[in-house]
Amino acid sequence: MKELPDFGMTELIDTLSELLRIPSPTGSADQAIDFVRARLEAAGLYASPTRKGGITATLEGESSDSPRALTAHLDTLGAMVREVKDNGRLKLTQVGHYAWNTIEGEGCTVYTQDGDAIRGSVLLTKASGHVFGEEVGSSERDEDTLEVRLDARTDTPAETIGLGIQVGDFVAFDPRLEVGKAGFIRSRHLDDKAGAACLLAAAQALQVAGRKPAQTTTLHFSNYEEVGHGAASGFPPDLAELVAVDMAVVGPGQASDEFHVTICLKDSGGPYHQGLSRRLRALADGAGIPYRVDTYPHYGSDGEAYWRAGGDVAVALIGPGVDASHSYERTHCDALEGTTRLILAYMLGA
Ligand SMILES: [Zn+2]
Repeated sequence: MKELPDFGMTELIDTLSELLRIPSPTGSADQAIDFVRARLEAAGLYASPTRKGGITATLEGESSDSPRALTAHLDTLGAMVREVKDNGRLKLTQVGHYAWNTIEGEGCTVYTQDGDAIRGSVLLTKASGHVFGEEVGSSERDEDTLEVRLDARTDTPAETIGLGIQVGDFVAFDPRLEVGKAGFIRSRHLDDKAGAACLLAAAQALQVAGRKPAQTTTLHFSNYEEVGHGAASGFPPDLAELVAVDMAVVGPGQASDEFHVTICLKDSGGPYHQGLSRRLRALADGAGIPYRVDTYPHYGSDGEAYWRAGGDVAVALIGPGVDASHSYERTHCDALEGTTRLILAYMLGA
């Protein structure tokens, strides 16, 4: 294989930062999809929306007898208003799965049907240490004990409804993004905006270099991954291979870390396609990309969503290591670089 084309890490991190700042809880990811659509079009690609609200673009390959696809998801964890409480505050229902304690203290925005954005924060119902003493530490954190305190003058349901807030309004949590000098990127929602930014960077690099992928390749950005069916549809019928690009699991017992791309061989949905996973390992070896191989204990991917929906293709999973996933996440630019390079090696590899 020829040298992999260059891509700018600064641009990649800028793109990722912009994406992270766009609220996109599952079911309300349109703005993030539009952002990616504009980037694809700026790179000279024809972006085609899926009816479900995702976006795809196809790069014509040197061959088209075994079409490929890569998918990353733009939706993130979030919430909806479940109830306007008697005290005018909001009870939440989760969008996606996470532990309630991971959102305690976070700033959030409630999006009303009229297009207003009302700020607030997620707090324990017994938040004040001066009022509740030890109970602040010992209370369970769940949907009944956490509530949204709105930054608006309300302490009755009527006043909150008067603000335009209704049951079912989307709530997005602040990403709390910080890009550090040591190369760390700390933010909520690196799952999977980190993967999406790598996929975009790889596609842009190919376009700038005027290179074609080995096979005709569909880029697929999904908007329903966190609830399990993001990439269940939206691929060409003759697709042969799908590589999902999503965060790698970092923590005790995991082989992944924040500095490498991981090739995941198995998660909660069972093993990935052995042949395709082996080829990805060989491509990484050949291109001199340091990587990890791992299995994930509590994880499902959009690749499996396509398998479960009947997709008769080889599926593999790669992605950058993300610490404290579905909590206050962190990765490192080395993992983003490795992921982007492996995507390029896959796209260009025979
Ligand atoms: Zn994910």
